[in-house]
Amino acid sequence: MPSSPTPTMDNHRVEGASGAAMAHTILILGGTTEARALANALAGRGDLAPVVSLAGRTAKPAAYPVPMRIGGFGGPEGLAAWLRTHNVAALIDATHPYAAQMSTNAAQAAALTGVPVLALRRPAWEPVAGDRWTEIAGAAEAVTALGTAPRRVFLALGRQELAPFEAAPQHAYLIRSVDPVEPKLAVPDAEYVLDRGPFDGAAEAALLARHRIEVIVAKNSGGTATYGKLTAARKLGIEVLLFRRPAVPEVQEVGTVAEAVAWLDRAVGGGR
Ligand code: NAP
Repeated sequence: MPSSPTPTMDNHRVEGASGAAMAHTILILGGTTEARALANALAGRGDLAPVVSLAGRTAKPAAYPVPMRIGGFGGPEGLAAWLRTHNVAALIDATHPYAAQMSTNAAQAAALTGVPVLALRRPAWEPVAGDRWTEIAGAAEAVTALGTAPRRVFLALGRQELAPFEAAPQHAYLIRSVDPVEPKLAVPDAEYVLDRGPFDGAAEAALLARHRIEVIVAKNSGGTATYGKLTAARKLGIEVLLFRRPAVPEVQEVGTVAEAVAWLDRAVGGGR
Protein backbone atom coordinates (compact mmCIF):
# COMPACT_ATOMS: atom_id res chain seq x y z
CA MET A 1 0.00 0.00 0.00
CA PRO A 2 1.65 3.30 -1.01
CA SER A 3 1.86 5.86 1.75
CA SER A 4 1.30 8.85 -0.55
CA PRO A 5 -1.91 9.62 -2.45
CA THR A 6 -2.21 7.71 -5.71
CA PRO A 7 -4.19 8.49 -8.87
CA THR A 8 -7.28 6.40 -9.47
CA MET A 9 -8.44 5.01 -12.82
CA ASP A 10 -9.65 8.34 -14.17
CA ASN A 11 -6.21 9.78 -13.34
CA HIS A 12 -7.74 12.93 -11.87
CA ARG A 13 -9.24 12.02 -8.52
CA VAL A 14 -6.76 10.99 -5.87
CA GLU A 15 -7.26 8.79 -2.85
CA GLY A 16 -5.42 8.70 0.41
CA ALA A 17 -3.87 5.55 1.82
CA SER A 18 -7.11 4.93 3.68
CA GLY A 19 -8.98 4.84 0.37
CA ALA A 20 -10.94 7.96 1.34
CA ALA A 21 -11.59 10.11 -1.68
CA MET A 22 -9.62 13.34 -1.85
CA ALA A 23 -10.49 16.47 -3.76
CA HIS A 24 -10.35 16.94 -7.52
CA THR A 25 -7.92 19.68 -8.51
CA ILE A 26 -9.59 22.42 -10.55
CA LEU A 27 -7.45 25.06 -12.26
CA ILE A 28 -9.19 28.42 -12.66
CA LEU A 29 -7.47 30.88 -15.01
CA GLY A 30 -8.34 34.12 -13.29
CA GLY A 31 -7.73 37.83 -13.08
CA THR A 32 -11.44 38.64 -13.22
CA THR A 33 -14.46 39.21 -10.99
CA GLU A 34 -15.93 35.95 -12.27
CA ALA A 35 -12.84 33.94 -11.29
CA ARG A 36 -13.06 35.33 -7.78
CA ALA A 37 -16.79 34.62 -7.57
CA LEU A 38 -16.21 31.05 -8.77
CA ALA A 39 -13.40 30.57 -6.25
CA ASN A 40 -15.75 31.86 -3.54
CA ALA A 41 -18.44 29.42 -4.66
CA LEU A 42 -16.05 26.45 -4.58
CA ALA A 43 -13.96 27.38 -1.54
CA GLY A 44 -15.93 25.44 1.03
CA ARG A 45 -16.30 22.22 -0.94
CA GLY A 46 -14.44 19.19 0.21
CA ASP A 47 -14.72 17.36 -3.12
CA LEU A 48 -12.96 20.05 -5.16
CA ALA A 49 -9.56 21.67 -4.70
CA PRO A 50 -9.60 24.88 -6.76
CA VAL A 51 -6.38 26.70 -7.62
CA VAL A 52 -6.51 30.17 -9.19
CA SER A 53 -3.86 31.21 -11.68
CA LEU A 54 -2.97 34.87 -12.24
CA ALA A 55 -0.69 36.33 -14.89
CA GLY A 56 0.99 38.60 -12.34
CA ARG A 57 0.03 41.88 -14.03
CA THR A 58 -1.03 43.68 -10.83
CA ALA A 59 1.44 44.23 -8.01
CA LYS A 60 -1.04 43.48 -5.22
CA PRO A 61 -3.85 41.30 -6.55
CA ALA A 62 -6.97 41.13 -4.41
CA ALA A 63 -6.95 37.98 -2.29
CA TYR A 64 -8.70 34.77 -3.31
CA PRO A 65 -10.15 32.32 -0.79
CA VAL A 66 -8.28 29.41 -2.42
CA PRO A 67 -4.61 28.70 -3.26
CA MET A 68 -3.10 30.87 -6.00
CA ARG A 69 -0.22 30.49 -8.41
CA ILE A 70 1.18 33.48 -10.28
CA GLY A 71 2.95 33.88 -13.64
CA GLY A 72 2.81 32.49 -17.17
CA PHE A 73 2.99 28.75 -17.82
CA GLY A 74 5.14 28.99 -20.95
CA GLY A 75 2.58 28.65 -23.73
CA PRO A 76 0.11 25.81 -24.29
CA GLU A 77 2.76 23.14 -23.75
CA GLY A 78 3.73 24.70 -20.42
CA LEU A 79 0.11 24.77 -19.34
CA ALA A 80 -0.38 21.18 -20.51
CA ALA A 81 2.62 20.13 -18.42
CA TRP A 82 1.16 21.94 -15.39
CA LEU A 83 -2.18 20.21 -15.86
CA ARG A 84 -0.47 16.81 -15.99
CA THR A 85 1.93 17.45 -13.12
CA HIS A 86 -0.85 18.65 -10.85
CA ASN A 87 -3.29 15.99 -11.96
CA VAL A 88 -5.90 18.61 -12.84
CA ALA A 89 -9.43 17.26 -13.27
CA ALA A 90 -10.95 20.27 -15.03
CA LEU A 91 -9.82 23.62 -16.38
CA ILE A 92 -11.94 26.77 -16.16
CA ASP A 93 -10.88 29.63 -18.38
CA ALA A 94 -12.30 32.57 -16.44
CA THR A 95 -9.90 35.10 -17.94
CA HIS A 96 -11.00 38.49 -19.23
CA PRO A 97 -12.71 38.40 -22.65
CA TYR A 98 -9.71 40.29 -24.10
CA ALA A 99 -7.14 37.80 -22.76
CA ALA A 100 -7.35 35.95 -26.07
CA GLN A 101 -3.85 34.49 -25.97
CA MET A 102 -4.45 32.77 -22.64
CA SER A 103 -7.83 31.47 -23.82
CA THR A 104 -6.19 30.05 -26.94
CA ASN A 105 -3.50 28.40 -24.83
CA ALA A 106 -6.14 26.95 -22.51
CA ALA A 107 -8.04 25.36 -25.39
CA GLN A 108 -4.84 23.92 -26.83
CA ALA A 109 -3.59 22.59 -23.50
CA ALA A 110 -6.96 20.95 -22.89
CA ALA A 111 -6.76 19.30 -26.32
CA LEU A 112 -3.20 18.12 -25.61
CA THR A 113 -4.08 16.57 -22.25
CA GLY A 114 -7.74 15.59 -22.55
CA VAL A 115 -8.56 17.70 -19.48
CA PRO A 116 -12.13 19.04 -19.84
CA VAL A 117 -12.23 22.83 -20.31
CA LEU A 118 -14.97 25.39 -19.84
CA ALA A 119 -14.86 29.10 -20.62
CA LEU A 120 -16.63 31.33 -18.10
CA ARG A 121 -17.04 34.48 -20.13
CA ARG A 122 -19.15 37.59 -19.59
CA PRO A 123 -21.51 38.35 -22.45
CA ALA A 124 -20.63 41.57 -24.28
CA TRP A 125 -22.55 44.74 -23.49
CA GLU A 126 -25.18 45.75 -26.01
CA PRO A 127 -26.01 49.40 -26.71
CA VAL A 128 -29.35 50.79 -25.54
CA ALA A 129 -31.20 53.99 -26.49
CA GLY A 130 -29.07 57.03 -25.76
CA ASP A 131 -25.71 55.28 -26.13
CA ARG A 132 -23.24 56.87 -28.57
CA TRP A 133 -20.92 53.91 -29.12
CA THR A 134 -18.59 53.28 -32.04
CA GLU A 135 -16.94 49.89 -32.31
CA ILE A 136 -13.27 49.98 -33.30
CA ALA A 137 -10.51 47.40 -33.71
CA GLY A 138 -8.17 48.70 -31.02
CA ALA A 139 -5.93 51.52 -29.82
CA ALA A 140 -4.47 52.43 -33.24
CA GLU A 141 -7.95 52.84 -34.71
CA ALA A 142 -9.02 54.80 -31.63
CA VAL A 143 -6.22 57.30 -32.29
CA THR A 144 -7.56 57.83 -35.83
CA ALA A 145 -11.18 58.02 -34.65
CA LEU A 146 -10.34 60.71 -32.07
CA GLY A 147 -9.44 63.02 -34.96
CA THR A 148 -7.00 65.87 -35.18
CA ALA A 149 -8.80 68.50 -33.08
CA PRO A 150 -7.88 68.42 -29.36
CA ARG A 151 -10.38 66.57 -27.17
CA ARG A 152 -10.65 65.53 -23.56
CA VAL A 153 -10.34 61.74 -23.51
CA PHE A 154 -10.84 59.15 -20.77
CA LEU A 155 -8.69 56.09 -21.49
CA ALA A 156 -10.29 53.23 -19.54
CA LEU A 157 -7.71 50.73 -20.79
CA GLY A 158 -4.95 48.50 -19.50
CA ARG A 159 -1.50 49.94 -19.03
CA GLN A 160 -0.21 47.88 -21.96
CA GLU A 161 -2.68 49.52 -24.36
CA LEU A 162 -1.76 53.17 -23.84
CA ALA A 163 1.39 53.64 -25.94
CA PRO A 164 -0.40 54.23 -29.30
CA PHE A 165 -2.00 57.41 -27.86
CA GLU A 166 1.43 59.07 -27.82
CA ALA A 167 0.81 59.51 -31.56
CA ALA A 168 -2.01 61.94 -30.65
CA PRO A 169 -0.42 64.38 -28.18
CA GLN A 170 -2.97 67.12 -28.99
CA HIS A 171 -5.59 65.53 -26.67
CA ALA A 172 -5.92 65.85 -22.90
CA TYR A 173 -6.00 62.37 -21.36
CA LEU A 174 -7.45 61.02 -18.14
CA ILE A 175 -5.93 57.59 -17.44
CA ARG A 176 -7.13 55.22 -14.73
CA SER A 177 -5.26 52.11 -13.67
CA VAL A 178 -4.84 49.77 -10.70
CA ASP A 179 -1.04 50.17 -10.62
CA PRO A 180 0.84 53.34 -11.63
CA VAL A 181 1.57 53.80 -15.34
CA GLU A 182 5.36 53.74 -15.66
CA PRO A 183 6.82 55.29 -17.70
CA LYS A 184 4.21 58.00 -18.08
CA LEU A 185 2.73 58.60 -21.50
CA ALA A 186 4.86 60.98 -23.60
CA VAL A 187 2.08 63.54 -24.08
CA PRO A 188 1.90 67.05 -22.58
CA ASP A 189 -1.54 66.73 -20.94
CA ALA A 190 -2.27 63.50 -19.06
CA GLU A 191 -3.77 63.04 -15.62
CA TYR A 192 -3.52 59.71 -13.81
CA VAL A 193 -6.01 58.19 -11.40
CA LEU A 194 -5.26 55.05 -9.40
CA ASP A 195 -8.38 53.04 -8.64
CA ARG A 196 -9.76 49.52 -8.68
CA GLY A 197 -13.36 48.63 -9.61
CA PRO A 198 -16.20 48.10 -9.19
CA PHE A 199 -17.18 51.60 -10.28
CA ASP A 200 -20.77 52.79 -9.95
CA GLY A 201 -22.55 55.03 -12.43
CA ALA A 202 -22.96 58.04 -10.15
CA ALA A 203 -19.28 58.15 -9.20
CA GLU A 204 -18.30 57.67 -12.84
CA ALA A 205 -20.59 60.53 -13.92
CA ALA A 206 -18.96 62.77 -11.31
CA LEU A 207 -15.48 61.79 -12.54
CA LEU A 208 -16.39 62.43 -16.19
CA ALA A 209 -17.99 65.78 -15.39
CA ARG A 210 -15.11 66.89 -13.15
CA HIS A 211 -12.61 66.21 -15.95
CA ARG A 212 -14.94 67.58 -18.68
CA ILE A 213 -14.51 64.33 -20.62
CA GLU A 214 -15.76 64.40 -24.22
CA VAL A 215 -14.96 60.85 -25.30
CA ILE A 216 -14.21 57.51 -23.60
CA VAL A 217 -12.01 54.78 -25.04
CA ALA A 218 -12.72 51.37 -23.48
CA LYS A 219 -13.16 47.66 -24.01
CA ASN A 220 -16.47 45.85 -24.20
CA SER A 221 -15.66 43.92 -21.05
CA GLY A 222 -19.21 42.94 -20.12
CA GLY A 223 -20.34 42.40 -16.52
CA THR A 224 -21.29 45.02 -13.97
CA ALA A 225 -17.98 46.08 -12.37
CA THR A 226 -16.96 48.52 -15.12
CA TYR A 227 -20.34 49.24 -16.72
CA GLY A 228 -20.80 52.43 -14.64
CA LYS A 229 -18.80 54.56 -17.05
CA LEU A 230 -21.21 53.60 -19.84
CA THR A 231 -24.35 54.53 -17.92
CA ALA A 232 -22.57 57.77 -17.00
CA ALA A 233 -21.64 58.39 -20.65
CA ARG A 234 -25.27 57.81 -21.66
CA LYS A 235 -26.50 60.25 -19.05
CA LEU A 236 -23.99 62.91 -20.08
CA GLY A 237 -24.25 62.28 -23.85
CA ILE A 238 -20.57 61.34 -24.10
CA GLU A 239 -19.22 59.44 -27.10
CA VAL A 240 -17.63 56.02 -26.46
CA LEU A 241 -15.07 54.22 -28.64
CA LEU A 242 -15.28 50.52 -27.76
CA PHE A 243 -12.67 47.95 -28.77
CA ARG A 244 -14.23 45.04 -30.63
CA ARG A 245 -13.92 41.74 -28.76
CA PRO A 246 -11.07 39.50 -29.94
CA ALA A 247 -11.73 36.10 -31.45
CA VAL A 248 -11.44 33.29 -28.89
CA PRO A 249 -11.35 29.54 -29.47
CA GLU A 250 -14.60 27.63 -29.58
CA VAL A 251 -14.81 25.71 -26.34
CA GLN A 252 -17.88 25.10 -24.26
CA GLU A 253 -18.84 28.44 -22.74
CA VAL A 254 -21.11 29.68 -19.95
CA GLY A 255 -21.87 33.19 -18.74
CA THR A 256 -22.51 32.67 -15.03
CA VAL A 257 -20.76 31.21 -12.02
CA ALA A 258 -23.79 29.01 -11.25
CA GLU A 259 -23.55 27.42 -14.70
CA ALA A 260 -19.82 26.87 -14.25
CA VAL A 261 -20.41 25.11 -10.91
CA ALA A 262 -23.09 22.90 -12.52
CA TRP A 263 -20.69 22.06 -15.36
CA LEU A 264 -17.95 21.16 -12.88
CA ASP A 265 -20.29 18.85 -11.03
CA ARG A 266 -20.97 17.01 -14.28
CA ALA A 267 -17.38 17.16 -15.62
CA VAL A 268 -15.64 15.70 -12.61
CA GLY A 269 -18.45 13.24 -11.97
CA GLY A 270 -19.89 12.23 -8.67
CA GLY A 271 -20.51 15.87 -7.79
CA ARG A 272 -23.77 17.14 -6.38
P1 NAP B 1 -3.12 37.40 -22.69
O1 NAP B 1 -2.59 38.47 -23.60
O2 NAP B 1 -4.22 36.56 -23.21
O3 NAP B 1 -1.96 36.42 -22.22
C1 NAP B 1 -0.58 36.67 -22.42
C2 NAP B 1 0.21 35.67 -21.60
O4 NAP B 1 0.10 35.98 -20.21
C3 NAP B 1 -0.29 34.24 -21.74
O5 NAP B 1 0.22 33.63 -22.89
C4 NAP B 1 0.21 33.64 -20.44
O6 NAP B 1 1.61 33.38 -20.50
C5 NAP B 1 0.04 34.78 -19.45
N1 NAP B 1 -1.26 34.73 -18.77
C6 NAP B 1 -2.42 35.39 -19.07
N2 NAP B 1 -3.38 35.11 -18.17
C7 NAP B 1 -2.84 34.26 -17.29
C8 NAP B 1 -3.32 33.62 -16.12
N3 NAP B 1 -4.58 33.83 -15.67
N4 NAP B 1 -2.48 32.79 -15.44
C9 NAP B 1 -1.20 32.59 -15.86
N5 NAP B 1 -0.68 33.19 -16.96
C10 NAP B 1 -1.48 34.01 -17.66
O7 NAP B 1 -3.55 38.04 -21.30
P2 NAP B 1 -3.78 39.57 -20.89
O8 NAP B 1 -4.83 40.14 -21.75
O9 NAP B 1 -2.46 40.24 -20.78
O10 NAP B 1 -4.39 39.36 -19.43
C11 NAP B 1 -3.56 38.95 -18.36
C12 NAP B 1 -4.41 38.71 -17.13
O11 NAP B 1 -5.13 39.88 -16.79
C13 NAP B 1 -5.44 37.62 -17.31
O12 NAP B 1 -5.47 36.87 -16.11
C14 NAP B 1 -6.75 38.36 -17.51
O13 NAP B 1 -7.87 37.64 -17.03
C15 NAP B 1 -6.50 39.63 -16.70
N6 NAP B 1 -7.20 40.79 -17.22
C16 NAP B 1 -7.04 41.16 -18.51
C17 NAP B 1 -7.72 42.26 -18.98
C18 NAP B 1 -7.59 42.68 -20.42
O14 NAP B 1 -8.22 43.67 -20.79
N7 NAP B 1 -6.86 41.98 -21.25
C19 NAP B 1 -8.55 42.98 -18.13
C20 NAP B 1 -8.70 42.58 -16.81
C21 NAP B 1 -8.02 41.48 -16.36
P3 NAP B 1 2.18 31.92 -20.86
O15 NAP B 1 1.95 31.76 -22.35
O16 NAP B 1 3.61 32.02 -20.47
O17 NAP B 1 1.40 30.92 -20.07
